[in-house]
Amino acid sequence: MLNIVSLSATYRGYAALDGVSLVVQPGECVALVGPNGAGKSTLLKGILGLLPLTAGQAFWRDRPVAAVRRRVAYLPQRSRVDWDYPVSAGNVVLMGRTAQMGWWRGFDRSARRAAQEAMERLGVWGLRHRPVGQLSGGQQQRVFLARAIAQEAELIMFDEPLAAVDRQSAHIVNEAIAQLRQAGKAILVATHEWGDDLGRYDRLVLLNRSVIAAGVPAVVMTPENLRRAYDCSDLMPMTVAEPTRSPFAC
Ligand code: ADP
Ligand code: MG
Repeated sequence: MLNIVSLSATYRGYAALDGVSLVVQPGECVALVGPNGAGKSTLLKGILGLLPLTAGQAFWRDRPVAAVRRRVAYLPQRSRVDWDYPVSAGNVVLMGRTAQMGWWRGFDRSARRAAQEAMERLGVWGLRHRPVGQLSGGQQQRVFLARAIAQEAELIMFDEPLAAVDRQSAHIVNEAIAQLRQAGKAILVATHEWGDDLGRYDRLVLLNRSVIAAGVPAVVMTPENLRRAYDCSDLMPMTVAEPTRSPFAC
């Protein structure tokens, strides 16, 4: 399991995260929700060791996450990626396998087969020769998800996978996430989804520098918790249906 223990991070004196603890089990899909600037992206980066932490640690199967990076896939927020990087969509996916094999060995037939299967599953095989920077937002997300699948990652972390994504891509991405969850992957998603869409997640973690509430959507998204997280008192109460079947069943 992913075990985040009392993680804190500071940007030049500003405490972006303060003592955040949470657990994500294999086969579980957990959403990080909270206002802009709540620290969702910072938390994902902190888990990966991509920024210095002032306190705390993140473990995957009892080992520091930074030490088992090949088992972890991270899809950053799209706007944070250098999209001018001259690489084809096919090579983006294939590079997911370097985590498995080491780049010095080159790509054998099984790596190419894994990349092709993953791209076909996400409907992007036909885009394999296109520079990734020229694809639409939805196509890019599907390419990066194909890469996570080809990598055979056990823990998958997404930062806003559905932001600026067309409906068809959103559907394909959601289906793929559902299948990964079913396959026993641990999945942590920072998201701006709202309302009924959150019913797809096993648990929510409502964040604003620290954890405001965690649990099933109906327990977390109460007016009181939302007021505390969003720091405004005039929010309309909202209802989030408890999933009556597997939240990812389609
Ligand atoms: P979220 O993803 O929930 O919108 P972020 O993790 O991006 O929030 O940001 C959390 C807080 O940290 C915000 O106040 C943001 O302005 C600040 N922050 C994020 N990245 C940096 C950075 N590289 N340098 C300084 N402050 C940052
Ligand atoms: Mg963010």
